[in-house]
Amino acid sequence: MSTVAKHANGQDGSERPAKKVRLEDDANDEEEEAPSSRAKAEPQKASDLYLDTINRAVLDFDFEKVCSVSSSNINIYGCLVCGKYFQGRGRNSYAFAHSIHDDHHVFINLETTKVYVLPDGYPVSDPSLEDISFVLVPSFTPAAVSTLSTPAHLQKPSYDLSNKPYLPGYIGLNNIKRNDYMNVIIHSLLHVPPLRDHLLLSNFRGKESELLKRFAGLAKKLWNPRLFKSQVSPHEFLQEVHRASAGKFSLEKQGDPVEFLGWLLNHLHKDMGGTKKRNSSVIFSTFQGEVRTETQQVLVRPDAGGSEKPRFDIDREIKSTVSPFLFLAADLPPPPLFQDAVEKNIIPQVSIQSVLAKYDGQTTQESMGHLRRYKCQRLPRYIILHFKRFTKNMFVEEKNPTIVNFPLRGLDFKEYLDAPPSHPPTVYDLIANVTHESAAGTTRDKESTVWKVHLRAGAGGGEHEKWFQIQDLIVEEIRKEMIVLGETVLQIWERRPDGSPTNSMEVDK
Ligand SMILES: [Zn+2]
Repeated sequence: MSTVAKHANGQDGSERPAKKVRLEDDANDEEEEAPSSRAKAEPQKASDLYLDTINRAVLDFDFEKVCSVSSSNINIYGCLVCGKYFQGRGRNSYAFAHSIHDDHHVFINLETTKVYVLPDGYPVSDPSLEDISFVLVPSFTPAAVSTLSTPAHLQKPSYDLSNKPYLPGYIGLNNIKRNDYMNVIIHSLLHVPPLRDHLLLSNFRGKESELLKRFAGLAKKLWNPRLFKSQVSPHEFLQEVHRASAGKFSLEKQGDPVEFLGWLLNHLHKDMGGTKKRNSSVIFSTFQGEVRTETQQVLVRPDAGGSEKPRFDIDREIKSTVSPFLFLAADLPPPPLFQDAVEKNIIPQVSIQSVLAKYDGQTTQESMGHLRRYKCQRLPRYIILHFKRFTKNMFVEEKNPTIVNFPLRGLDFKEYLDAPPSHPPTVYDLIANVTHESAAGTTRDKESTVWKVHLRAGAGGGEHEKWFQIQDLIVEEIRKEMIVLGETVLQIWERRPDGSPTNSMEVDK
């Protein structure tokens, strides 16, 4: 483990050349009075005194940026002494009043990150403020981003204000009320390298949607190597989710993570300018594949005796359609209906291959008088699998407790694919796994539901990877053998670039 040079404020000093606070692009901020030339000429001494009053421990830029008095979201400043937000900095503004009434004098513009001393109104530019603007608006270079999914990332812990080490990207997300079902999706998506890197390197300042801006902002906080506190609140993003989904996804009531994922992927795709075309957004180029569905009507044949399972009849028309998917849904076999006292505690187990057999092009499903069979035509770089564990049954939602056995590495999807030889490799490794736990057994008791996510860190293979289990603020390293024991609901698989079915670094079975 490398040692890390540290500044007195507990921040890692090794990879951050002191940046000058930018004072140029002033233009859009000057609807209020410009600082007088008198103030500009003599501020240095007084501001040094004021800078000592800054309290980093109370600074938290995770919450929606609205004035604590007026609730407005326009032109908001954060008081660097007490952490509260106020509107404006002119003579009649709330920040100005706060500076006089509470004797707090240093304020940061939450949009431009420029710092001002009030009530005097002059700007301060000091290298010591750079860590604050970095927590407010973290930024990443392509070089920094390129190491996030490599073994080097595991060797380089960051330190928060209290000197506690943490691994950027593997930190807790607050459960504000009941938003753990969204937290596991946020974590899963923000660990998919192409999407994560796209967001970390983004610089949205224009007409992009608020949802996209806030998701990118959350990505930057989650992966920030210079956090004051090694946890992040998704509050600002989830407020926007609530608005954009017209209340469908709320942080106040439990919901379905898979429904949330579908909604989020589609919205992000549109907000990134995506169209129906392939690769028209990073969402499509990362997650979109194609599946062929063959359908045939079932004819009732009196000679069949009623016991024979209906099959595709090659002499009749088979309708074939190819449609895009963002995730593949897989059904679990129905659990035994009746269990005696002895069998009661036996939980059924199946292999992931038997669950994926739905996509082998031969396994048929019958519903509403039609037979169907499926086969993928194109696999994306990242395959999202959804195991359908919940079924609505009369009044309650029932949960299928079947355990799915899966390898962490080297799952070959080739049996589920009809594609030309030019198709990229079909061997995949797991990078994220979402599980469901509930105290109530086989019904879905939303009140006692717990969602957890397992995330791979480092590169795949042997000692180059670690796994973490995250449940809201609880982050713990987890042994690989433990990962399959949970009731998995959602997984993300990453295509292995060289496609090799085994790997010299391999230690997993
Ligand atoms: Zn204050």
